[in-house]
Amino acid sequence: MSAHQLDRRRFLRTTAAGAAAVTAGGLAATTPARAEAAGAPAAAAPRAGARGAVSFRWWGTSGWRVDIGDRTVLVDPYLSRFDTGLFRGAFDPATPLTVDTVAVDSLVDRATTILVTHTHWDHYADVPHIAARTGARVFGTLTAYHLGLAYGLPAGRLSPVRGGEVLEFGDHTIEVVGALHSRNAGYSLAFPGVRVDTPPQPATIADLPEGDTLAYQIRVDGGPSVFFMGASDFAERNLTGLAPDVAMVALPATTSTADYVPRLMAALDHPQVVVPVHWDNFETPLTNPPTVAPSDRARLDDLVAAVRRVSPRSRVLVPEYRTAYRF
Ligand SMILES: [Zn+2]
Repeated sequence: MSAHQLDRRRFLRTTAAGAAAVTAGGLAATTPARAEAAGAPAAAAPRAGARGAVSFRWWGTSGWRVDIGDRTVLVDPYLSRFDTGLFRGAFDPATPLTVDTVAVDSLVDRATTILVTHTHWDHYADVPHIAARTGARVFGTLTAYHLGLAYGLPAGRLSPVRGGEVLEFGDHTIEVVGALHSRNAGYSLAFPGVRVDTPPQPATIADLPEGDTLAYQIRVDGGPSVFFMGASDFAERNLTGLAPDVAMVALPATTSTADYVPRLMAALDHPQVVVPVHWDNFETPLTNPPTVAPSDRARLDDLVAAVRRVSPRSRVLVPEYRTAYRF
């Protein structure tokens, strides 16, 4: 990290504290409802440079479209949102993989970079179609690399990463962060496994294993640093020094991970803005307001309350679909 970056971070965090103090009173009385997210840009410290040119749109699950100048970065874009029975108590691991090209193509007019946190279907199933259509470069695990080859994507546009890489894109950098998948109640996870060689083209959701999990931090020159999670566990030592201005935080599925929110907020140095993701029913259309299962609503409320308790100067922004947020 350069001295310039250190100085800028110090400046941002100083001004952020001031801005948060002004708005904290108003936020404290606000429930995590739509009102807070109704198109209002996140309250953030005034900033020069690329701020106005950078927008973040939530696409449900842990998916994002980030427009930075003439580049469009997608994180875990999953727009097909087909029915697996998951939200009806009838989960079928043999559900065929399908791409809703109308839904996907209507939103993905362009993409230059695709960041894959892990290769479960609700993060990866649309990636091969989007990459083929847009020519975007796909960053992900070695498993994501082999799955991309299985779908016929050219090796030259598949970039396997491990965590630790800091990638240069001119007006922004992308740091890859080694992360972890969430745990279910049995301290395990769905479809564990990796692909160390190119498999046959996947046909069902069970053909897309977790494949290890990454997180990403985008640092925009003259703009915000934004941390993206796709699953709700992390190795806190891997987060040391990231200190993002904004953190997209995945909803924990269970309580199997101890002290999730306190450890996460501390490891991220208490971000100025915290945006919960992966709390919506991702098998319904991408129309506002998002559909939320009752149990996920309760977990979302708990997550918001926990952030406010352990990180009272952070602003919590519960996003709506497709709304352009600027930080
Ligand atoms: Zn997953």
